[in-house]
Amino acid sequence: MPVDKDWLKRAADIVGPDGILSDVSDLEAYGHDEYALDTYVQLPKSVAKPATEEQVAGIVQLCAETGVPVTARGGGTGLSAACVSDPHGIVLSLERLNKLIQADPDNYAITVQAGFTLEQINKAAEDIGLFFPPHPGDESAMAGGMVATNAGGARAVKYGTIKHFVLGLQVVLASGETVELGGSFMKSSIGYGLMELMIGSEGTLGIITRVTLALLPKPGSIQTVLAPFDTVSAAIESVPAILNRGIIPFAVEFVERSAIACAERLVDRSWPARQGSASLLLMLDGPDEEFVLSQAGAIAEVMEERGALDILLADNRERQEEILGIRSMIYEALRPGTVELFDVCVPRSQIAGHVEFVHDLEQKYQVPLPTYGHAADGNVHTNFMRTRLEDGVLGQEIPDWQSKHEAVRREIFDDVIRRKGNISGEHGIGLAKRDYLANNIGRTNVALMRSIKKALDPKGILNPGKIFTL
Ligand SMILES: Cc1cc2nc3c(=O)[nH]c(=O)nc-3n(C[C@H](O)[C@H](O)[C@H](O)COP(=O)(O)OP(=O)(O)OC[C@H]3O[C@@H](n4cnc5c(N)ncnc54)[C@H](O)[C@@H]3O)c2cc1C
Repeated sequence: MPVDKDWLKRAADIVGPDGILSDVSDLEAYGHDEYALDTYVQLPKSVAKPATEEQVAGIVQLCAETGVPVTARGGGTGLSAACVSDPHGIVLSLERLNKLIQADPDNYAITVQAGFTLEQINKAAEDIGLFFPPHPGDESAMAGGMVATNAGGARAVKYGTIKHFVLGLQVVLASGETVELGGSFMKSSIGYGLMELMIGSEGTLGIITRVTLALLPKPGSIQTVLAPFDTVSAAIESVPAILNRGIIPFAVEFVERSAIACAERLVDRSWPARQGSASLLLMLDGPDEEFVLSQAGAIAEVMEERGALDILLADNRERQEEILGIRSMIYEALRPGTVELFDVCVPRSQIAGHVEFVHDLEQKYQVPLPTYGHAADGNVHTNFMRTRLEDGVLGQEIPDWQSKHEAVRREIFDDVIRRKGNISGEHGIGLAKRDYLANNIGRTNVALMRSIKKALDPKGILNPGKIFTL
């Protein structure tokens, strides 16, 4: 059955007239995520905005009965066109499902509805004196979306990604039935990991309506260490030596001068490390200042031995925020010229080699490929630019950037596969990387994913076409 007047009336009976959109002007905001190109823009036939978990189940039941494809949407901050609707389908936006269900300090846990944002999670954790470590860069991402993409962020090296913090989920299945998976406990050995199956499933196996997340005690002290190096390889190669000293910073970021220069201009601030062509930014946390300062001292020693040109310690909050402020603006600064932000992940020992490979591609194709990333967990972000980039200024458009984009993309993905890495460390597959998945994980693994999809969603109504085609 098409999404026609009758269908919209039935949907409005479930979510109320305010909860259903069908005017083109209202649908536009739901036709894309943050993927830079408009290749995958697709207006849904309608957007349903349920305000309760029962209404989510009602809409999914209606979709199941009428065969209408349904794509869940959280904050729409995804970077792989995963929350874009099927041309005949609807978007189910979780934005009104935004309640804190329970802050549970005794169990170091918090239960929230799927539309609760990362910013709200951080605040709610802080209100009970605890801390939620995962931090994907856009705080308007929502709990359900972060689980559905298994989001990561800079702190994964010490704390892991979202999957390490999911204790329980409430999920509406393709039939419209609701199931509770997991709970507020740390361990379980009770058959197949149905909850784990939902993590990273990009809305293709179920609609997440509630999430219980683990929290940790808040660190007593945080220090930031910044060290410039002559080359990005020298910066990255010092990381294993740091980890081998038994010190795990909660973030280890490498940034190249060309990318930082753009962010400096955008925020009108100066990156404190002026020498060299790359910097290593390390963040340490621990119970008190003495502990963290002693770790910072040990790290400084290792980096000096490995060729750091300087060691800068940001020991007060303003200084730390200034450095992080510039770092967090890199993507924003490059965005007007960015075609795609890659998020490949390679084994730690392969990071420097992969970054050198990216530099060779810059020469081969004559395109700027500013690169930065999480130096200790192997997650490398390369921006494919369609404009020239000099001293932090975006210049003229590169004439044949489209064909270069496809070629660079394939070469980058082939290189990470050769290095036994993967094509997405944290942003997901969506539509943007779908055609490369089989090369990465093999046809048998894709076939296994298809059989799981068929078992859980026999009519194929949940976010069809994402991750793989049926
Ligand atoms: C500036 C910027 C910086 C970023 N930095 C990072 C980073 O450091 N690390 C990182 O991992 N990501 C990062 N991202 C990407 C993005 O924030 C994450 O992928 C995030 O987890 C997406 O959450 P969302 O709520 O916006 O999901 P959406 O974009 O709305 O959806 C993403 C996917 O999840 C599905 N989905 C959404 N909600 C549900 C639900 N309730 N049930 C089932 N499926 C659902 C959608 O169908 C889609 O497949 C960044 C994005 C931007 C714009």
